[in-house]
Amino acid sequence: MSAPVTIKDVQVILTQPSNSRLAIVKVITSEDGLYGLGCATFTQRIFAVATAIERHLKPFLIGRDVDRIEEIWNMSMVHGYWRNGPVLNNAISGVDQALWDIKGKRANMPVYQLLGGKSREAAHVYVHADGRTKEEVLDNVQKYIDQKYRYIRVQMGGYGGKDSPMVKPKNAPEGAYFDPRDYARRMLDMIAYVRENVGESIELLHDIHERLQPIHAVQFAKDVEQYKLFFLEDSLAPEDIHWFKVMRQQCATPIAMGELFNNPHEWQMLIQERLIDYIRMHISQMGGITPARNVSIFANMYGVRTAWHGPGDTSPVGHAANLHLDVWHPNFGIQEWYRPTELEYEMFPGLPTIEDGYLYANDNPGLGIDIDEDLAARYPCEDIIEQWTQTRLPDGSPTRP
Ligand code: MG
Repeated sequence: MSAPVTIKDVQVILTQPSNSRLAIVKVITSEDGLYGLGCATFTQRIFAVATAIERHLKPFLIGRDVDRIEEIWNMSMVHGYWRNGPVLNNAISGVDQALWDIKGKRANMPVYQLLGGKSREAAHVYVHADGRTKEEVLDNVQKYIDQKYRYIRVQMGGYGGKDSPMVKPKNAPEGAYFDPRDYARRMLDMIAYVRENVGESIELLHDIHERLQPIHAVQFAKDVEQYKLFFLEDSLAPEDIHWFKVMRQQCATPIAMGELFNNPHEWQMLIQERLIDYIRMHISQMGGITPARNVSIFANMYGVRTAWHGPGDTSPVGHAANLHLDVWHPNFGIQEWYRPTELEYEMFPGLPTIEDGYLYANDNPGLGIDIDEDLAARYPCEDIIEQWTQTRLPDGSPTRP
């Protein structure tokens, strides 16, 4: 038997081609020219992830056999003793996805082949429509329909709606204010208006983004039931998941949940008790392709489908990983899609392409995506203090973003 191919170096590439700061892991192997890429993007704490990889994971991984993905993933999870936190999960994901990419390249097969092969030719996606008024939202929905998108998430004024009139107390601090009660009323009106105008055959989605109190989220899910959403996303915060039982008993609005999940305890009960319809973790946040594959198989046994998180703060490499899972899963539901810029297509050759609302994976070995490192270096990550997550209620108190 020939000597194993081993991990020779683990590099972190930080870049910001658009709004989000991205972390890409490059695992370099002992075989000349053979490397893999993975997504480790936790955009709000990007430098912490980079340090975790460079100072903790890299020294631990050098010299290991690249073929042993399972062993490396499991050992990486327990090696720090404290586990299931977002920084280390993202760091581990970067390595995990890169190892799947390498395995695909070594087998001369796309990653979806390693997972079991295609269940479908392409993944249908949902895209985001927003607007300041319901008329503007409808205009933007119509533009997507003209581009042959069939699944459209409708929001108004961003998460929680920003345009509510509100009375703040004296000396109220700066922040991203919203009024949950007013938000709920206006969204129902907007969704009713869009549904009335586009008819029943266009699928509409909405993301509460954990902006409502649990019982108000239950009310919203009941009130919106008549408009037949494809799903209602993040109606509750991870801290409130036991409220899904109440929501489930009261209405048949399809429920999607999971982009903030880190820990198996957060998804196990929801799947086993069939309290949600779509499981939608951020793949790097849960630790990579290896745990996503396991959760998907588990969810399939309970009739729960996948809808992996896919906004601009997943890197193009992460989107490629999502898509390899999507075309394989027997229980694929839908893929969130962020419509990359031309610069991102240039920086990441092989980035999946969209046609008539379907996302297509290429057939190159591995994840089928690369990075132009010289170009990436020309767009370094900015030092920014995130504003939109400094969320406040009308009285100025901090709340979940
Ligand atoms: Mg979301």
